[in-house]
Amino acid sequence: MRKVSIFGATGSIGQNTLDLIARTPEAYDVVALTGGRNVAQLAKDAQAVDADLAVTAFEDELQPLREALSGTGIEAAAGEAALIEAADRPADWVMSAIVGAAGLAPGFRALRRGLTLALANKESLVTAGPLLMAEAQAHDATILPVDSEHSAVFQALVGEDMDAVERIIITASGGALRDWPVERLAEATVEDAGAHPNWEMGQRITIDSASMFNKAMELIETKEFFGVRPDQIEAVIHPQSIIHALVGFADGALMAQLGPPDMRHAIGYALHYPDRRDLPVERLDLAELATLEFRAPCDTRYPALRIARGVMETGGHAGAVFTAAKEIALDGFLAGRIKFTQMAEVVEGTLDAISRDLRLHDAIETLETVLETDHLARVRAEEQVKDRQGHG
Ligand code: NDP
Repeated sequence: MRKVSIFGATGSIGQNTLDLIARTPEAYDVVALTGGRNVAQLAKDAQAVDADLAVTAFEDELQPLREALSGTGIEAAAGEAALIEAADRPADWVMSAIVGAAGLAPGFRALRRGLTLALANKESLVTAGPLLMAEAQAHDATILPVDSEHSAVFQALVGEDMDAVERIIITASGGALRDWPVERLAEATVEDAGAHPNWEMGQRITIDSASMFNKAMELIETKEFFGVRPDQIEAVIHPQSIIHALVGFADGALMAQLGPPDMRHAIGYALHYPDRRDLPVERLDLAELATLEFRAPCDTRYPALRIARGVMETGGHAGAVFTAAKEIALDGFLAGRIKFTQMAEVVEGTLDAISRDLRLHDAIETLETVLETDHLARVRAEEQVKDRQGHG
């Protein structure tokens, strides 16, 4: 039996992971499940998989969690320290699917056990990629990417020599506003930007798809995870979202990974790696699909891609600043304080403003520094939002 823990079990990735585990429960011994505010779901899932421990990230949710688990024999705990303690528990495979900067510390801690970390939390690689990869190496741990694009690249690279890799191409649906005239983008509402053409995801990541801040994060993740140069990474718009990524080799060959837009593929690949097992995902009918289209993304429509290139070139603290500023800009857009097109201005303005506080390109040496930079960037980004509120 494999011992598994799921951090962020109540979220979209966590629920898809539980869906796969529930299909062969006899194969898994679930050690810990963690969640945030949705303690009813957490308690229900912990009972369904007979977990040893359920942790909510928030202390004020401990009482409701205890009550929901009373009489089950499942341990309940709460708070950041409890999340770290859960990451210390012996497991063979851990899913890192907490959203945001809160996902960093438990993922880092789990790596110390030399296990396999299935990494969905994008922020870990974007803000602290070099630290994370070094931590995995130091403890002989394996990180498997769960973002569908990086899982696709990983799969295309099996058995290949990294020295023969010329380029990595990450595909993007183009998001909800991809066919809008550029001059109308400033008018886009939260509802307009929140209607993803292919993937069913939460509101924040869907709006990040429309602005391509999500893709921008993925370009940075690609650099950090696969250790390639920024000029080897390309993004291409592929409206059908069937090809998730391609790897180009020195002989001109392109290896692509195709699949329906269903996160259970990338999660299942990471769960069963290095084996391939039956997964409950739709099988593609190529004749029915008939056409796969591609087009180059335009920097005027998607300034996030240009900003990401700058972040990759700078390295150091730039990823942490970028991530934090993007979150604050998105909050500002969701709250109606800034326009859709002003999100990129806020992120760029924050990167510029913060370079007066710290040397962006300096290497990040500890997790604490990442969190300090995250905090400072949020303050500067909030100033950028305020400056624009009501203007534009
Ligand atoms: P969700 O918002 O659906 O779920 C997030 C999870 O984190 C929930 O379990 C939530 O708990 C928990 N959580 C929220 N705040 C905190 C906190 N402060 N401390 C600890 N836990 C917290 O996110 P997704 O599942 O969509 O995404 C998870 C990660 O995976 C993100 O980094 C995302 O970018 C990445 N990702 C997601 C993809 C997708 O298709 N959804 C694709 C590729 C990557 P609760 O709900 O109980 O409050």
